[in-house]
Amino acid sequence: MNIGVLAVQGAFIEHENMLRSLGAECRELRCREDIDHLDGIVLPGGESTVQARLLTELSMMTPLKKLIESGVPVLATCAGLILLAEHIDGGEAPHIATLPVTVRRNAYGRQSASFCCRASFGTMADVPMMFIRAPFIESVGDGVEIMAHDSSDAQNITAVKYKNQLAMAFHPELTNDTRIHEYFLKLVARRRG
Ligand code: GLN
Repeated sequence: MNIGVLAVQGAFIEHENMLRSLGAECRELRCREDIDHLDGIVLPGGESTVQARLLTELSMMTPLKKLIESGVPVLATCAGLILLAEHIDGGEAPHIATLPVTVRRNAYGRQSASFCCRASFGTMADVPMMFIRAPFIESVGDGVEIMAHDSSDAQNITAVKYKNQLAMAFHPELTNDTRIHEYFLKLVARRRG
């Protein structure tokens, strides 16, 4: 299976290393021509405004959107979640906009900009979650399955699944726990049949 990892900016190498350790082939997506014959897509963390500008300049936004709409599974982390969201709190224009959620960027403020917690993710218990200037999800639309909350009293939504889109506010690729990537590869395998 051939996984395309968006590699215009941000933490993409860590995703590639984790996916390769699980036996998947990865291709770095750096230009429009790279977006071809993919079985899955990874949108890494980084800076969503920079990534969005580069995706537009490189004419990669529309082909990525089409591929995701066609059902190719996508794993999006942090800035990747912001790229997928249909709504961004604060009035910023959405980007790929295939995921019916509202996100709030830099939602944890400056003081707790980066932190780690353990929480469940769907049926997986005790998953380590690393948050780096992370967004959270304020609300979800119809058909969106909530996969995780943070461990604060507010229980903010930190991960969702919608059709073949798996998106989270934290960085599973920066831990040693491979379960979320394995889950994503199962979605890819299921779609390939
Ligand atoms: N704060 C970044 C943004 O708004 C996301 C941070 C991350 O990807 N770790 O795009």
